[in-house]
Amino acid sequence: NIPNTYRGRFAPSPTGPLHFGSLVSAIASYLEARHHHGRWLVRIEDLDPPREQPGAAEAIISTLEAHGLVSDEAVLYQSERYEIYNKALSILEHQGATYPCTCTRPRLKSLGNVYDGHCAIHPPQDNEPAAIRLSVQQADAFLLFNDTIQGEQSQPLKHDGDFIIHRKDGLYAYQLAVVVDDIAQNITHVLRGSDLLPTTARQWWVYQHLSANAPLFGHLPVVTNPLGQKLSKQNKAPAIDSNQASLNWWHALTFLGQAPQENLKQSPLTEIMTWAKQHWRTERIPQQLGLGYTGIATLQ
Ligand code: GLU
Ligand code: ZN
Repeated sequence: NIPNTYRGRFAPSPTGPLHFGSLVSAIASYLEARHHHGRWLVRIEDLDPPREQPGAAEAIISTLEAHGLVSDEAVLYQSERYEIYNKALSILEHQGATYPCTCTRPRLKSLGNVYDGHCAIHPPQDNEPAAIRLSVQQADAFLLFNDTIQGEQSQPLKHDGDFIIHRKDGLYAYQLAVVVDDIAQNITHVLRGSDLLPTTARQWWVYQHLSANAPLFGHLPVVTNPLGQKLSKQNKAPAIDSNQASLNWWHALTFLGQAPQENLKQSPLTEIMTWAKQHWRTERIPQQLGLGYTGIATLQ
């Protein structure tokens, strides 16, 4: 059942309030979906309670709403979807594509976080708490794909070695959950920050195992602070002020290369949104993978 309409999404992790970088991803994915007369969905990726901030999911949703960004379907919460991830995990396990790994953090660090497959050769004891890894040994060396913003990409599939899909602490890994949910929601197009570009090959590998077609991927330029660091909760990116939604839209559109006129800064929200939908040109989005962006260095 391949949907014939565009289905895009915005999938924030509620580790803190919405900042300008995530607003840019939300607005770009929303405008691209509207441009294709498609649907735009919000999914809260609350998969990692230790990293989450109480109330952040609600704050993100209300900030989005204040910016006219409302999910076309019920918001999905990953924290409520463990059964579905369990099912996906057992599919991968039945394929013999996975194995338990009990390696310690210091050991993984000593490997430079490129897993060497130790536990595939030396299976751990049954009763030890273990992470589950998905093997990439059967994968081709490179994934070639055409990124809708960044153009032709060639990503090494085995670069980081066999990767974790279920953590030792019992939590599901982002790489598994994001794919399971994009499949479940029939997502046809993913538009997200370029910080996630290097994760695409691993996710594509999960799609292969779940016998699903991967969506088309597009990776947006990353917003950096004056030090060239990606805006994030870790480096204390300021929260978006919902009281100046038009101005925030204006800055996001400017960052996305859409060149809104100066007078739209103070316009009512509906006016700048209407302008944005009428004038949206994907090809104007800059690639800008230079400053503060490290992922591209691993691509060849
Ligand atoms: N939840 C991820 C994040 O906030 C984004 C997932 C995605 O867009 O693939 O970084
Ligand atoms: Zn191991």
